[in-house]
Amino acid sequence: MSFRSLESDASPSGADERARISERYDAPMAAVDPALDDLTRLAARVCGRPIAAIMLLEGGWHVYRSAFGMPTPPPCRGGTVCEVTLSGDGVYEVPDAYLDPGYAETGIALGGRIFRSYAGVALADPARGNIGTLFVADAIPRALDRAQHDALEIFGRQAMMRLDLERRVRQMDLVSRDHRRADSALAVERNFVSAVLDTVGALVAVFDTAGRIVRFNRACESISGYASSELVGRCVWERLIPAAGVSEAIRQFESIRAGGFPAAFENLWLTREGIERRIAWSATALLDAQRQVTFIIATGIDVTLEREAEATLTASEARYRMLVEGSLGMVCTHDLEGVILSANRNSAETVGRPLESVVGHSLREFLPDGADAAFEDYLTEVARTGEAQGLMQLRSPSGGVRVIAYRNKLVTADGERPYVLGFGVDVSEKIRAEEELRALVRQSNSILESVGDGIYGLDLEGRVTVINPAAAQMLGYRQDEILGRHMHALIHHTRPDGQPYPWDECPIHSCFTGLRTVRASADVFWRGDGTSFPVEYVASPQIDIDRRPERRGEPPQEKAVGVVVAFTDTTERRALDRMKDEFVSTVSHELRTPLTSLRAALGLIHSGTLISRPEKAKQMLEIAIANTDRLAKLINDIMDLERIRGGKTVLHHKICSVAELLRAAVFERQEDASKAKIRLQVDAGGAQVWADPARIIQAVGILISNAIKFSPEGSRILVRATPVDHRQPPDGADEDQADGPMQADQLQVDQVRADYVQIEVRDSGSGIPADQLEQIFDRFRQVDASDSRSMGGTGLGLAICHGIVLQHGGRIWVRSAPDEGSSFFFTLPTGPSGNLR
Ligand code: ADP
Repeated sequence: MSFRSLESDASPSGADERARISERYDAPMAAVDPALDDLTRLAARVCGRPIAAIMLLEGGWHVYRSAFGMPTPPPCRGGTVCEVTLSGDGVYEVPDAYLDPGYAETGIALGGRIFRSYAGVALADPARGNIGTLFVADAIPRALDRAQHDALEIFGRQAMMRLDLERRVRQMDLVSRDHRRADSALAVERNFVSAVLDTVGALVAVFDTAGRIVRFNRACESISGYASSELVGRCVWERLIPAAGVSEAIRQFESIRAGGFPAAFENLWLTREGIERRIAWSATALLDAQRQVTFIIATGIDVTLEREAEATLTASEARYRMLVEGSLGMVCTHDLEGVILSANRNSAETVGRPLESVVGHSLREFLPDGADAAFEDYLTEVARTGEAQGLMQLRSPSGGVRVIAYRNKLVTADGERPYVLGFGVDVSEKIRAEEELRALVRQSNSILESVGDGIYGLDLEGRVTVINPAAAQMLGYRQDEILGRHMHALIHHTRPDGQPYPWDECPIHSCFTGLRTVRASADVFWRGDGTSFPVEYVASPQIDIDRRPERRGEPPQEKAVGVVVAFTDTTERRALDRMKDEFVSTVSHELRTPLTSLRAALGLIHSGTLISRPEKAKQMLEIAIANTDRLAKLINDIMDLERIRGGKTVLHHKICSVAELLRAAVFERQEDASKAKIRLQVDAGGAQVWADPARIIQAVGILISNAIKFSPEGSRILVRATPVDHRQPPDGADEDQADGPMQADQLQVDQVRADYVQIEVRDSGSGIPADQLEQIFDRFRQVDASDSRSMGGTGLGLAICHGIVLQHGGRIWVRSAPDEGSSFFFTLPTGPSGNLR
């Protein structure tokens, strides 16, 4: 046997290592077992050695459980002698280390000391093998005798039994400590669960398999009004479930117990105060090791308010839906790209598509051509400002365009994508009606503006609501001065005979009450300046159906809402009538005179009394012929004049030399002039005019003829022509001719620029009184009525001249004074482009 290493002196060093070992061997090291100490002492005594100890092998370390004859050594790595003992069974003895080659050099190291003799026995655990040694040692050589050998074996077994007992006790200790720990953990857990259950807001109830309440948390207590103690041990349906719900509650419970879990359901709880609460439950079952239901756990939430709110919300949603659906307006939502998210039926009908072909489609699909840019602008605006309103065009099913007045808002609810809520009204018809109305108003306005008759409208109080320019002008007011005034008081206050005219007696007033049109022809209206003028008027009531709410159900009744009066100033017509009367009587008179002479002359011849007096008969025939000529001239003049005044004469214009025209006219009258011993002088120059030569020769002829008639013998008549500038007033012209041409010789007018030629027939005859100058161009006007006989005139010559000159776009006037001669002037344009006058 070779010496092996001494018991290692490497002892656990450092606090950490010791602590670790101490922790691991806490129980054996800490426990001082007197029984083991007794055994070591007894072993030492019996074996007659000073030292005895029990050492256990723990994880490679030698741990001394008991030591006699030396202080208990600390745990150490162990030495060779112990390992040899442990590896064998029975007693291992070294009587003298010096004699044993294994220990000769070092001796036997044990517990930090060196011995010469050693005897140890392994402690054999039937389950775990050798776990340590019981040994005796001495510093001197010693050997065991037989009895000591046996005794050491017995002590070894005793020590083993003791250690085994100790181990079991320790194990039991551990078990019981584990139990205690588990119990206290369970208690903590229970408290924790209770605290949690009572803290959570949810209702938590636990039921046994018979439906009895086992647990009832604080939330359950506060909602039900019952204390947990009042309900634990009772079935939930005994108190908490209203009678109507009991069978359902039992059925529900049975279903869960039979395996129908987890289950979610709602039921009603009847609180202690008798109020019903709706609880939404979620229940599950707790199973034992055999998977049998032992408890049922239900957690619930009081959803009474939620359900009420939901019900209210549902009802209000339904109401709004009905409102939106039933609305004649268009209601829709669309996203910021213009895609329709929802729409009411009316919206779909407006674009002529079923609802499902509208939702999810872009609004662009419904736009008419050319409306895209406006739509993009709208999208930009609503996204930027949050609101947009205006008119949007949509294609109508019939192919036309519908105009929608919209007011849309951007909705940005939390957590939702922003969208646009739109409200629209189809205003196509309204716009069309408005356009028609505008056109109608424009039309009636232009009628009112252009019509020559005076027209005004009155409200029920007789105040002016509308008046046309002609009416205002005739009445001598501005339109705005009359609007709003009481018209009767303003223009109709006095009768034609000067008597006051009360409003109640006015026929226009009776329009309101009688609801019929009235006409008046012999009335007068009064101007702003106090003068009056004769009028004819027609007043028509504006009738409407009386639609006042209080008359609902009654037959429709008409009522006047205003009166429209149209009137004409009859001054001119009356004057015309007068003139016509005068004309007829004058013509009759003018015709009768020569006719009477003619009749008398022919009567004499016819009677045969002049057969014997041929000279007289011839004279009678000459009278008859002269009167026939006169009649013919008269009739020709009348017809000429009527043709000219009626515009029935067609002028054959051409550029004519004025000199030629004047000379031709003079030539025709030369004979009469010569007879009257009057000299005709022409001063024509080289001017040309745009005229019908025959007509101008006729007019100049009439003027020369008159001049001859009213000039004394030996006098001179000057017929001359001069270019004139139309911009200057004519020399000697009357007031109303003030803008006429002026004589060129006085004005030194540039010949090139002159666009009129003025023709003058000047005599030095009897002249015309100033008060006759204006009327002298009227028909049958003569300064002296006897002229018609003495001068053979008809009083129509100047009227014909006037007509001819006017037809040529010229003017005619006279400058004359009694006994100072007369100058008749008229103008003619020099060309067709001339400024016609
Ligand atoms: P009548 O056939 O009578 O001449 P006119 O119309 O030609 O008809 O003339 C109307 C009246 O004008 C004449 O009757 C006359 O009193 C007056 N009158 C016309 N020309 C002259 C004149 N050159 N001098 C004076 N009186 C004239």
